[in-house]
Amino acid sequence: MKNTPSRKQLRTEQKAARKQPCAQRLPADISRLVPNNSYGAACKQFYEPVPFRCMDCGKEEIWTARQQKWWYEDCQGSIYSTATRCLPCRIARRQKLAEQRQRTQDGLARKAARTFDVQAFKQEKQRRAQLRRQWRAQQKARQKALEIPASDARG
Ligand SMILES: [Zn+2]
Repeated sequence: MKNTPSRKQLRTEQKAARKQPCAQRLPADISRLVPNNSYGAACKQFYEPVPFRCMDCGKEEIWTARQQKWWYEDCQGSIYSTATRCLPCRIARRQKLAEQRQRTQDGLARKAARTFDVQAFKQEKQRRAQLRRQWRAQQKARQKALEIPASDARG
C-alpha cells in the first residue's frame, strides 16, 4: 500500500486546483505560526477552503487555503481567528475604522487647543482682576484725596 499519491494523481489534483482555486489545499508551515500554548490541538496540518457567511452583509464566501496561509503565516494572525467578513465589507470596515481614528485624533487635537484656550482665558481673567484691583486702589486714593479737604473744612 502506498502512502504517497501517485504522480498522475498529483497532476490531476493540481489541474483541478488550478481550475478551481477555491478548492485548493495547502500544507501548513507550523513553525511560521504565531506562538501559542496549545500547538497540536489547534494547529492544522493543511489549510482547506472554509465556507463562511459575512457577518456584515450575510454573503456566502469561501476563505481559500491561500488566503489562510497568508493570514496565519505572513500576517501572523492568531490561530484562533477566522474569516468573518467578505472583501468589500473588510475594506468598508477598515475605512470606517480609519475615519473613526481620524475623528478621535481631531477631537483630541481640538481638546488640546481648548485646553490652551482655557489657559489663555485664565490669564485674561487674572489680568482683568489685576486691573480691577488697580482701579479700586485709584478710586480709594481719589476718595481719600476728596475726603481730606472735607475734614479740613469741618475741622
Ligand atoms: Zn460582506
